[in-house]
Amino acid sequence: MENVLLENMTWPEFDEAKKKIDTVIIPVGSVEAHGRHLPLGTDVFAPVEIARRVEKKLRKRGKDVIIAPPIWYGHSFVLDVYPGTINVSADAFKAYIAEILREFAREGFRKLLLLNGHGGNHSPLILAAEEVAGEFEVEIWLINWWIDFRKEILEVCSSQGHAGEDETSVILAIKPELVKMKEAKGERKTKRVRVIRKDIGFELFPEGVNDDPRGANRKKGEAILEKVSEGIVKLLVGEDGQSY
Ligand SMILES: [Zn+2]
Repeated sequence: MENVLLENMTWPEFDEAKKKIDTVIIPVGSVEAHGRHLPLGTDVFAPVEIARRVEKKLRKRGKDVIIAPPIWYGHSFVLDVYPGTINVSADAFKAYIAEILREFAREGFRKLLLLNGHGGNHSPLILAAEEVAGEFEVEIWLINWWIDFRKEILEVCSSQGHAGEDETSVILAIKPELVKMKEAKGERKTKRVRVIRKDIGFELFPEGVNDDPRGANRKKGEAILEKVSEGIVKLLVGEDGQSY
């Protein structure tokens, strides 16, 4: 099946496709400041690209999936101190995600994959998934690519973080024309406990960065995208030794 992007299908095509396909991948991200060097769409560009790679690999293994249009706006409290971050409240975001999951469940999909590219979405996504999993016979997967495949990413990068070496490498591999490497700088900032304050983003993410991105390059990005997408495929087809 060639036409796997939901937004490109007609309704009869979609109706036909879903008779044979039980899995939909929904990329989720944010519009958010990512240092002076990465585009505001970074957290969407990454999961969209991973979804495409996962779909291609699955197709080669004889399994078809549908890729839904990405959810662009996410919950981003901390980075909201910087221009260009469009923060949706956690309540509204959770409710919106739950509605979308419900609709895919009603359409008959049984495996709903939230492929997330943004940390602030994590908690509301879990809450939305729990709500819908309580109502339908569905299995919802929440994949946070930079957390779930941290081990694999750290085989490629010396560190990882927001707008850091891993994320910058990934965007260099996907949209090099949008990366301003001359502006890339930063360092890891942490606190011993989580501190929640309106302007904490200035402290924890100076200029919107929380890692040193200067070691990023396109080759590392390509390697990360490959490892992450292959890892997701193995989980989906049960090749990693566990049964899913
Ligand atoms: Zn990001």
